[in-house]
Amino acid sequence: MTAERVVMQVVQESGEIVETPLTEDDLKLTWNKSVCPYCGVGCGVLVGSKEGRVLKVRGDPNHPANYGLLCGKGATLPQMVSPPARQPEAGPSGAGIALGDPLAGGEMVRTPDRLIYPMMRRTRADQFQRVSWEAACERIAAQWRRILHDHGPNAVAFYISGQLLTEDYYVVNKFAKGFLGTNNVDSNSRLCMASAVSGYVTSLGADAPPGCYADIELADCFLLVGSNTAACHPVTFQRIRRRKLAAPNRVKVIVVDPRRTRTAEIADLYLPIQPGTDVALLNAMLHVLIRQGLMDQPFIQQRTTGWEGLQAVIDRSTPEQAAAICGVEASRIREAALMFGKARAAMSFWAMGVNQSTHGTAKNNCLINLHLATGQIGRPGAGPFSLTGQPNAMGGRETGGLAHLLPGHRLIAREQDRQEVERLWNVPTGRIAPQPGLTAVELFRALAEGTVKSVWIICTNPLVSLPNLAVAREALAKAELVVVSDIYHPTETTLLADAILPAAQWAERDGTVTNSERCISYMEQAVDPPGEALPDWRIVCRVAQAMGHREAFAFQTAEEIYEEYKRLTRGRDLDIGGVTYERLKRSPIQWPCPTPQHRSTMRRYTDGVFAHPDGRAKFLAHDYRQPAEVADAEFPMILTTGRVRDQWHTMTRTGKIPVLLRSEPAPFVELNPEDATRLGIAEGELLTIRSRRGCARAACRLTRDIKPGSCFMPFHWGGLRGEAVVNETTIEAFDPLSKQPELKFCAVRLEKVTGDT
Ligand code: SF4
Repeated sequence: MTAERVVMQVVQESGEIVETPLTEDDLKLTWNKSVCPYCGVGCGVLVGSKEGRVLKVRGDPNHPANYGLLCGKGATLPQMVSPPARQPEAGPSGAGIALGDPLAGGEMVRTPDRLIYPMMRRTRADQFQRVSWEAACERIAAQWRRILHDHGPNAVAFYISGQLLTEDYYVVNKFAKGFLGTNNVDSNSRLCMASAVSGYVTSLGADAPPGCYADIELADCFLLVGSNTAACHPVTFQRIRRRKLAAPNRVKVIVVDPRRTRTAEIADLYLPIQPGTDVALLNAMLHVLIRQGLMDQPFIQQRTTGWEGLQAVIDRSTPEQAAAICGVEASRIREAALMFGKARAAMSFWAMGVNQSTHGTAKNNCLINLHLATGQIGRPGAGPFSLTGQPNAMGGRETGGLAHLLPGHRLIAREQDRQEVERLWNVPTGRIAPQPGLTAVELFRALAEGTVKSVWIICTNPLVSLPNLAVAREALAKAELVVVSDIYHPTETTLLADAILPAAQWAERDGTVTNSERCISYMEQAVDPPGEALPDWRIVCRVAQAMGHREAFAFQTAEEIYEEYKRLTRGRDLDIGGVTYERLKRSPIQWPCPTPQHRSTMRRYTDGVFAHPDGRAKFLAHDYRQPAEVADAEFPMILTTGRVRDQWHTMTRTGKIPVLLRSEPAPFVELNPEDATRLGIAEGELLTIRSRRGCARAACRLTRDIKPGSCFMPFHWGGLRGEAVVNETTIEAFDPLSKQPELKFCAVRLEKVTGDT
């Protein structure tokens, strides 16, 4: 493709856009279309490569998620992909693999830990030894046959990732649910967006945000709840910021977050609520809307159910009551409600601050209640919009990548859904077990208890990201067979594996992803993977074939998988019958898109018909309830966790890029100076953050951006990088419906690290 229009545009923390023109050398590169593999914004990128190496990345000027803009993480993607120039030699443990010469034209990052061969070991005390793909697949298949024979199908499990491509997700689900007979397939998306899924499904009748990014340019009120959009979804934040700056008096921004972040800098109204009190705030906002007569009565009467059932809860949810719970003035709650209620078009955005909660589904329902009460949904510039953390968390939901789902937004618990999938997979009726599988936290508990014997972990690093890591470590230590597919070794997780399988990474394979706005993009392969690394779907198919399922997993290309999956979307809410690789190579498409003539669906529910069987959306009432663990005399502080702008997940990729490490080179714990004075703690002092489950260490950073009584730590740093592993302390308690754990809230004690501790 031509690169003539391509200019690098990178958004800085200040909001300034830095543009870099193409050089003569850049124009000589081969350019391929792809998508940034980090956050769920799903920015389109153009990948410039030469002689098998990725040398440049530019934002795709035609992609509707970013129109050419990238953040610092996306802009440094070439530094992540460093295929070896010559065949490297494996060290004795598989680590210490020397790669080729530095890449030209960039700040080269050597990746001595790139995994390029399958590796296995007989016992955990042994070193990994290089094995052939055939031997690896045969040995895994043999062990699984034994485990299935001795313990049944539910003794085997998969823990996968929102970073997998749609085609990978599909084959994992087909293999596990249709052929092994286990529904124990869950994804790290469970830690991320499961409460948004259950919120959409219970309120609207179907999963996924109704609107699109283009609504940002049409909205005149933004309600950002529990989302540090500036750091975690920088390109979307930039669009909101531009919209605000273009009409500063007319466009209103409300930011709700216990921690004041850069996101709050564009806020007309910042509400620093106490952690975990969102339901109280949202109910009180609805109370004000009702008292002020700002509801859309025709919409409520014609398009919704449950309004009457809401009244008792909302009647008692006064701003004064919420103020006492949330720790913000009642007048500011009224102000927020009036901004939202008087808006011509209002959007809400939310992320982990809402979802990672034992009441995550309730918080989602209460937020959607505001949109239903005011008719702010299904029209331009309006609607609830969950921000996904990972590039293909949406694709995972679509292909059945959670323990309760089947492809095409089907439910395992529904017989008709199982039978439809069984027919297409050509397996006997009844093959798919009727009970949903174990979700992330349940799965690792079951491994630790010994009821699940083996897990295949694909494209994720749970020994950093799961809550209460002591249980996760015990889980893998007890398992009879731990298989990990990854692009790197060692990671905190591969170190506990029996088999590690080298996966091709971004730009080294093709496939599709769906971003936060239901937009499917095709990612072209730009370079070859190094060594013997393979796309994840090929790895899964190899093992499935080694287990005897040759025909069902005889896919030769990612496109063949996509076409098979597509058949399972026919007639469903996410119908992609009209989407082909050929079309996607020209431009991304938002589902549903049922026919070749259909263009794309920017907005859902524009006809006011929702996805519940009666066609109506549901108001769902919830009273505020406390988190699972509250502060007490022994553990008097609340710990909340989150992210920093320039790192992504467990740093296996962004942690290798010096320019990204520069802004936050080390982990830290944020503390309000009031608490620091009381505890006798000074700026920069090393602290132990201790909970009932474990402890982490980090240097103290004093800031009034965090409320007294709370502290904050980023979750990125894992055990390979020191002692600051915050998930040693977090709690496994989860939302009863979404099963998403409460990673945002637990009780801790802060202790100064002295010579003795
Ligand atoms: S905003 Fe997200 S998708 Fe876009 S470049 Fe940054 S990390 Fe990548």
